[in-house]
Amino acid sequence: MERVLTGISASPGIVIGPVHLLRWEVPDVPQRIIPDEEIPAEIARFKEVLERARERLDAVRERASRNAGVEEASIFEAQRMILDDGAITTQVEAYIRQNLGAEKAFDVVMQEFRQHFARSPVPMLRERVGDLTDVHIRVLSLMLGLGDHDPVDVRKGANAILVTHDLTPSLTVQLDREAIAGIATESGTRTSHVAILARSLGIPAVVGLREALHRLRGDEQLVLDGSSGMVIVNPSAAEVKTFERRAILEKEDEAELQKTAEAEALTTDGVRITVRVNVDLPEEAAAASHAGGEGVGLMRTEFLVVGRATMPDEEEQYREYARVVEAFGGHPVIIRTFDIGGDKLPVGGYPHEPNPFLGWRAIRMCLDEPELFKTQLRALLRAGLRGDVRILLPLVVTLDEVRATRALLREAMAELDARGVAYKRDVPLGVMIETPAAAMAIDTFLDEAEFFSIGTNDLVQYSLAVDRGNANLAERFTPLHPAILRFIRRTADVAHQAGLEVCVCGEMASEPLLAFVLVGLGIRQLSVNPRSVALVKRIIRGVSASFAAEAADAATSARTAAEAQRELEFRLKAAFGSVTFMWEAVH
Ligand code: PEP
Ligand code: MG
Repeated sequence: MERVLTGISASPGIVIGPVHLLRWEVPDVPQRIIPDEEIPAEIARFKEVLERARERLDAVRERASRNAGVEEASIFEAQRMILDDGAITTQVEAYIRQNLGAEKAFDVVMQEFRQHFARSPVPMLRERVGDLTDVHIRVLSLMLGLGDHDPVDVRKGANAILVTHDLTPSLTVQLDREAIAGIATESGTRTSHVAILARSLGIPAVVGLREALHRLRGDEQLVLDGSSGMVIVNPSAAEVKTFERRAILEKEDEAELQKTAEAEALTTDGVRITVRVNVDLPEEAAAASHAGGEGVGLMRTEFLVVGRATMPDEEEQYREYARVVEAFGGHPVIIRTFDIGGDKLPVGGYPHEPNPFLGWRAIRMCLDEPELFKTQLRALLRAGLRGDVRILLPLVVTLDEVRATRALLREAMAELDARGVAYKRDVPLGVMIETPAAAMAIDTFLDEAEFFSIGTNDLVQYSLAVDRGNANLAERFTPLHPAILRFIRRTADVAHQAGLEVCVCGEMASEPLLAFVLVGLGIRQLSVNPRSVALVKRIIRGVSASFAAEAADAATSARTAAEAQRELEFRLKAAFGSVTFMWEAVH
């Protein structure tokens, strides 16, 4: 077996620890015909397993509420209801009476229910598919004696590395940070949400580690290097020493970088760049506010609904937004409206669509669900009184969407007026440029948008037609493609001419080499993950804006992403000498 597995660097840091394999997938079920006389015992066995599954689920919910919070743990309520559902048990018993073994009977019934729910025109039912799948896996695992392999089983202090196919919402809320020290997933890329979440939580992670579940048995020790995207299976004593040393160096380097993080982001010729941070979870806000950023350039609110069975109400949202705004004391906090769907963590499952990235998601879904959207808008307007809140709309394609949002904003204000609740009237409304349509037609938004933010993760995905979460395509996900550089330049030029601010909040801004080209393309605001503030400021403080502009010209004239990268690397090497930090971050 290969000892070194290479995936994609998702969240930096080195962990050395035992593997914890989590195969959260529906197992293969053998066909088994039982004689008539065994039917009563088989039904009794089925009921006994259901009881064990209930106990297990209660324990999981209990643990999740300690790890992630009571609200988040409510995801398991729906699963408890499925276990208690008379329609399912009656059907399973009917199949057993037709001489089918209990596990096959249950498997068939659950397949039928999942298909039925997935095709339902009622969104509430479609949302239950994820829960049905979880119950399907849990009960079958118990019946087949495959053991229960929830991450909750890991003991505190185990320092384990969780290896799984994908991190679903119900798995995420069970993660015990005191037990799981690293994450490795088979699917995903740097910009997929597992990676973003791992960075937010500060857990070292490698994604896109294809076939990891096949290659590991579960009793191995691993070294996981989140910075290089590498995993070593059963490392030698010498390798462990090397990585332990490297982990110490990384920590020291971090202390050094922290000083740079506090410094002003000024180029050597005096151009001031605003560096803000991305915040994914309200509970990160306090720590992120010390990362050296000037406010929040992107708060992703969909993580508020991660794995929840119900949407958070206005009060709860208001409290969470206010918490972030207050943590950043007076600095702007740009809060994006729900970007649910695609690869975003859904509310207890999500309608299954053949093409989710081109589907009913983000602003499209919010506009079709005006009550859900207005609840969020009211909470945001109220949070506006607590500081400099700005509202950002995801996945905008046409001006109609901005106009429709403005109409709902007016309704939200009228509703607050009617209730006599105080709020801020003139909260700025911004548009994300993350589709080629919006980038090309940026001029059409000038009358309605008060600022822009370029979401390069999606802009690259949609422009290059490369699924951002598909590990097989990771090398084709190239932000330096000439089309992307031109879209960014055009957005900056048109917006600045109209006197509007443009920020880049996609992961591109967090990569030092790419931040350099962004400054060269005329971008003056970057929103980065908190850990990248120092790296990005180091680049900004080490170059002049004119040098960056010249490099960006060369990169934009290049015909391929690789050529563009060479142009940038060559210039940065000249400016910084032998530095490795920017290349490590890029590769
Ligand atoms: C983006 O698409 O670049 C972005 C910032 O939004 P998200 O990564 O949440 O889709
Ligand atoms: Mg996006």
